[in-house]
Amino acid sequence: MSEYSTNRTVAMITGANKGIGRATAERLAALGMTVLIGARDQGRGEQAAAAVRAAGGDAYAVVLDVTDPATVGAAARWVEERFGRLDVLINNAGISGSGQVSPEDAHDQVPSSVDLDMVRAVFETNVFGVIRVTNALLPLLRRSPAPRIVNVSSAAGSLTLASDPDGPLAGLLASAAYSPSKTALNGLTVQYANELRKDGILVNAADPGFVDTDINHHTGYLTTAQGAAVVVRLATLGADGPTGGFFAEGGPVPW
Ligand code: NAP
Repeated sequence: MSEYSTNRTVAMITGANKGIGRATAERLAALGMTVLIGARDQGRGEQAAAAVRAAGGDAYAVVLDVTDPATVGAAARWVEERFGRLDVLINNAGISGSGQVSPEDAHDQVPSSVDLDMVRAVFETNVFGVIRVTNALLPLLRRSPAPRIVNVSSAAGSLTLASDPDGPLAGLLASAAYSPSKTALNGLTVQYANELRKDGILVNAADPGFVDTDINHHTGYLTTAQGAAVVVRLATLGADGPTGGFFAEGGPVPW
């Protein structure tokens, strides 16, 4: 008999070996889901999956580099062979490009002097990677009775907030890489939601808040569990839940 149970809700989380993705995996596992820990490094993925299992969860590591079509295709086949479907996809993997998201440090993203290769790299992961992974896994999501897609975005991608000189992002340096990548991800969220609404697939963007992780050199003030809360909520929406929205834990975020 297969070791893989197909009775539980199956969730794939990209970039789940650490940070918000890992906290999301831990919480979804605690809720009884089978969690597939997408990780570009096999060892880091296995370590995270072992930790979730040690806490009583059902977790497996899946090698998945969102910029690498070969690993994305292999991951989709792996999920199909073991589970035959996917219920939840969380597009969480992301990079800042400079390694800095904190306002005082991201000088290398200022539009007038940004390195175009860095912008390309950030979009390759944060935007094109989401299309690549979503499209590879959509056939499996379509076999789920209640498919959910969550794109982990950022308030930094909100044009409404970013264009308000007195708003909460006023202290951030202008960014031509990370922030526009999240704006593009928000755009994709709406477009996927529009296409998939008729199929009952709910697609939403999450703003986790400013979370203490490697991406901002641990300058964030929320725990990863706090940051994951909205991601988990959007991953577990009922059939009457929203689609094509952008939400933080406190409620909707303006586009
Ligand atoms: P993190 O701790 O640096 O985690 C990022 C994760 O993404 C890691 O697992 C990393 O894997 C993975 N990753 C990067 N490139 C990848 C690729 N090409 N393929 C697969 N996985 C890849 O940062 P985090 O804060 O948890 O970030 C998670 C998401 O939250 C990101 O989309 C980020 O933009 C978003 N976000 C974070 C904050 C915040 O304050 N922290 C705020 C708003 C939004 P490796 O370990 O191999 O590098």
